[in-house]
Amino acid sequence: MSKTQSQEATAPLESSTTVGEVLAANQEYQQQFGDKGALAMPPARRFAILTCMDARLDPAQFAGLAEGDAHVIRNAGGRASDDAIRSLVISYKLLGTKEWFIIHHTDCGMVTFDGPTMAGLLSRSLQPAEHNGEHWHCPADHSGTDEGHFVPWLTFDDPAQAVQDDIRRIRQSPMVPEEIALHGYVYDCGSGALIPVAAPE
Ligand SMILES: [Zn+2]
Repeated sequence: MSKTQSQEATAPLESSTTVGEVLAANQEYQQQFGDKGALAMPPARRFAILTCMDARLDPAQFAGLAEGDAHVIRNAGGRASDDAIRSLVISYKLLGTKEWFIIHHTDCGMVTFDGPTMAGLLSRSLQPAEHNGEHWHCPADHSGTDEGHFVPWLTFDDPAQAVQDDIRRIRQSPMVPEEIALHGYVYDCGSGALIPVAAPE
């Protein structure tokens, strides 16, 4: 690493209120860190959660996790994408998890658009789109890209159906052994409840 790079790593060129808040919170966290430096890498409770990146979902809170307990894999929608399956396979094969929770949720942003919509918005502009209560829109400028047409956005209409589809996809992976238990839930953003989803046919 060059000198310039190492300086950038320790002293960000751009500071923001958010950076200050995060670093202040981290200072407090370090004060209470205790003996967590001794935690083992493999998750102590031998399970993994695949869930959505939605800011309202806090798996540590809703599933009672402490540091070192479980793997949490998150992406937009909590979908069983190729990359989510990559993480899950590493989770059991190298780090010993034995059961996986697939948790989607009510009011997920992924139901508000589909792949062609997202690709079209990106083609119009890189500026953030706005939702008018019915659909997404953004004015066209010269910053757009057609790259979004090549991305599988993995949107869905019904979270319970999407959980079943993802469980089916995980089960069909030749890298996933039958012994892994799969549990499907929809998290209710209105109550914090985990609502069970029937196993797919
Ligand atoms: Zn979501």
